[in-house]
Amino acid sequence: MRQQGIPPTPRNFEVFYELFDGGNRPLVSHVRQCEANGQLLTAGYIDALHRDYIDRGEDSARVAAGADDLADVAQGIVEQVTRDGNAIRAYGGTLDHWRTHLNASSGTEELLRAVTMLTAETEGASARNRVLEAQLSASVGRIARLKEDLLQVRQEAATDALTGIANRRAFDSKLLRAIRDAVADPSSRFALLMIDVDHFKRFNDEHGHKTGDQVPRRVARMLADNVKGRDTAARFGGEEFAILLAGADHAVARTLAWQMCERLAAQVLMKRGTGETVGRVTISIGVAEHRAGESGADLIERANAALYEAKRTGRNRVCVAEAITAAA
Ligand code: GH3
Ligand code: MG
Ligand code: MG
Repeated sequence: MRQQGIPPTPRNFEVFYELFDGGNRPLVSHVRQCEANGQLLTAGYIDALHRDYIDRGEDSARVAAGADDLADVAQGIVEQVTRDGNAIRAYGGTLDHWRTHLNASSGTEELLRAVTMLTAETEGASARNRVLEAQLSASVGRIARLKEDLLQVRQEAATDALTGIANRRAFDSKLLRAIRDAVADPSSRFALLMIDVDHFKRFNDEHGHKTGDQVPRRVARMLADNVKGRDTAARFGGEEFAILLAGADHAVARTLAWQMCERLAAQVLMKRGTGETVGRVTISIGVAEHRAGESGADLIERANAALYEAKRTGRNRVCVAEAITAAA
C-alpha cells in the first residue's frame, strides 16, 4: 500500500485484506481484470472497490430485515384468518342449529330467542370481518413499503455514491448484457468510451482533495447529460468513467466523444461556498466499437489503449481504437 501511495486507513486495509484472503471472489476477479488492463490501484479506485464489493453488508442486512418483516406480515394474516375461520365455523353452527330447530310449530318465545341470538352472532361476524378487512389493508400498506425499500436497495446497489451515476458493478452487468445481445443479434452494434480526467493528481495537489471531489461529480453530470435512452454512463473507478453507446459505430461514438471533451473544457469550475474560480478540467477519451465475438475485457483493453494514445498525444482529445489498429 505504501508503494502505491495508498493511505493506511481501516477502509483501505479492509480491501487489501479481502484481496489477499481471496474469499471475496467478485472483488478478486474484478481487480485481476483491472490489473490485466494495466489499471493501477489508486486511492479513489480502492474507495470505489470498498463501496461496490465490501459495503454490501449494509444492503444484505436491509434485505434480511425486509424478509423478516414480510414473514411477520404473512404470519399476522395467517393467525387472523385462522381465528376468523374458527369464528365463522361457530357462526355457521349457530345458523345451522336454528335452521333445523325452527319450524311451523315454533312458539313466539323461541322465535324471539332465535332472533336475539342471530342478531348478536351476525353483528359479531360482521365486526370480525371489519377487523380482518382493516388488518388486510394495513398489511397491503406494509408490503408496499417493503417493496419500495427493496427497490431502493437495488437502486443504491447500482449507483455510485459520489456522482450519482451508475457504478462499476452496474456497468459490468450492462456490458455483459450488451455482449449477450450482440451474440443474439450479430447486426446489432455498440461502442465503448473509456474516459479519464487529465492531470487530476496535479489538480488535487493544487486545490485539495475536497475541491477535487467536485471534479468527478462535474464530469459525471456532463456525461449523463450527453447520453440518452439505452446508453449507460458509469463511474469506472476513481477518476475514470465508461460509456456504453447502444447502436453506435466508432464514427458516431467518436463524434459524441469529441462533443463531450469540448463541452467539459468550456466549463469553468468554481470552489463551493467561496465561488472562487479554480480553472478548467479536461478529459481524454478512448473509443472502441465492439467486434463480433469480442469479450468485454478485450473491448475494454482496446478502448483503454486508445485512451492511452489520447493521453500520449496531448490529452483533452479523442482517439479511436480502430484508427490505431489501421495505422499500426
Ligand atoms: P493523467 O492525465 O495521465 O490521467 O494524469 P492523472 O494525474 O489524472 O492520473 P493519475 O492516475 O496519476 O492520478 C489520478 C489521481 O486521481 C490520483 C487520485 O488520488 C485521484 N483521484 C481518483 N479518484 C478521486 C476522487 O474521487 N476524488 C479526488 N479528489 N481524487 C481522486
Ligand atoms: Mg486514471
Ligand atoms: Mg487521470
